[in-house]
Amino acid sequence: MTFTPHGRHLIAGGWIAGEATFDSSPAEGPSHAFSAGTPALVARACAAAEAAFPAFAATSRAARAAFLDAIAEEIEARAEAITGIGTQETGLPAARLEGERGRTIGQLRLFASHIRDGAYLDRRHDPALPDRQPLPRPDLRMMQRPIGPVAVFGASNFPLAFSTAGGDTAAALAAGCPVVVKGHSAHPGTGKIVAEAIRAAVGRTGMPAGVFGLIQGGDRRVGEALVTDPRIRAVGFTGSLAGGRALFDLCAARPEPIPFFGELGSVNPMFVLPGALAARPAALGQGWAGSLTMGAGQFCTNPGIAAVPAGADGDAFVEATAAALRAVPAQTMLTDGIAQAYRAGKDRFDSRNAVRPVHVTDSAGRTASPNLYEIGAEAFLADHTLGEEVFGPLGLVVRTGSEADMIGLAQGLQGQLTATLQMEDADLPLARALLPILETRAGRVLANGFPTGVEVADAMVHGGPYPASTNFGATSVGTLSIRRFLRPVCYQNLPAALLPEDLR
Ligand code: NAP
Repeated sequence: MTFTPHGRHLIAGGWIAGEATFDSSPAEGPSHAFSAGTPALVARACAAAEAAFPAFAATSRAARAAFLDAIAEEIEARAEAITGIGTQETGLPAARLEGERGRTIGQLRLFASHIRDGAYLDRRHDPALPDRQPLPRPDLRMMQRPIGPVAVFGASNFPLAFSTAGGDTAAALAAGCPVVVKGHSAHPGTGKIVAEAIRAAVGRTGMPAGVFGLIQGGDRRVGEALVTDPRIRAVGFTGSLAGGRALFDLCAARPEPIPFFGELGSVNPMFVLPGALAARPAALGQGWAGSLTMGAGQFCTNPGIAAVPAGADGDAFVEATAAALRAVPAQTMLTDGIAQAYRAGKDRFDSRNAVRPVHVTDSAGRTASPNLYEIGAEAFLADHTLGEEVFGPLGLVVRTGSEADMIGLAQGLQGQLTATLQMEDADLPLARALLPILETRAGRVLANGFPTGVEVADAMVHGGPYPASTNFGATSVGTLSIRRFLRPVCYQNLPAALLPEDLR
């Protein structure tokens, strides 16, 4: 009898099994064997994507919008199965996955309406000036065109919204680019069901079969083969600094380098200004603890560092944070590796003399419990490793002695996804001094809130200077993210009959 693995690869519209398999490691429920990816399978998916590109790029915006809407419907039709296997594989609660499914469907529909509207094409026209002296001007028309097949690395922490049919895939398909997804080995079954939804939408809307492919993981060579395949024109990635940097370097070293849009790591500093601290120390501490531990701290926008003035109000903030964290039990992490990485990150804090433990816990296996530490501003700035992301519910309070300390802290930051100001009107002068610095450090600056929620919207920026992302001109959330997969083309003096329909 032939063995059929639980999950296979989707190539040119067909489900393909390779020789090797890997076993999933679900947080609960049975483990299953999945077909492991190989460089040869990656090459087949890339060839299918390349073959699909001309026809897909030539589809009308209305047709692609209908395709995106159909994917949303097909995902919704598989809601129960997705939540069932998703909770087992990731350990995330059903309510979280249901919310994330709503977000995923919302993103697909948002991109459908975004391309129907057409403003993203950024069409420009400089009419001919035949009588201009000393030289006539030609007729110039410009618009954005799709770049070609895009590789997407699904993220472990958003198995739906940043994975198989997540934001990167939605943006690339909306632009007219075929997609090859490298499935995350932490949720291969979830990825397979979502891929099946996309396959059904391809069939319903008559899109070319190679427009979407999924290669399951289980072998590090899969990612390397994907980013170095000459048919791939850009990469969307969310994950670790080490993994992202390795893949970024491979992209840059290709004979024809391509852009790597990686979202890697951020500690999302929060500046608690003196007026806000005096007005509401306990509420701010409780709010921070909630944001820090949401989803076991496994959010790229997790606010890991709080800059807080020294003194009694600051002490009250720290105590309120610690009290709220003491009430949070150990939570299941997405993978064993992520739980181990969390403990390794915590060890870094435990081993530093300048770091004072406030609330320190031990966790075992695939769980993590909250930890809180405190340090002075000068000591923090002297040890750059304390400013690196610890993925999980770990917080560091940096105590500042003066406004100059806070400004120095902002200046010492690496690139961030977000920076937060907790402030009252009385804090405006200090906030005005901080803002020009924070703008150069973060993709999103927010006031009087917590950065964990990322709105999928036109004005959202989810990106920032390195290492928050590898490409500070881009965002991986919101409609602006489509720009990553477009390239401007200028059409000079082309007869109307030859111009793309969108420019006529
Ligand atoms: P990861 O280890 O970077 O893996 C992400 C994806 O890239 C996976 O598909 C992985 O393949 C692939 N990959 C990683 N390194 C590679 C390499 N050198 N060559 C080829 N492929 C490679 O991230 P993760 O597993 O999702 O989580 C691990 C850590 O990433 C966390 O502890 C956290 O620090 C960080 N993380 C950050 C964010 C964020 O939003 N900034 C989100 C999630 C995770 P395999 O599946 O085959 O390993």
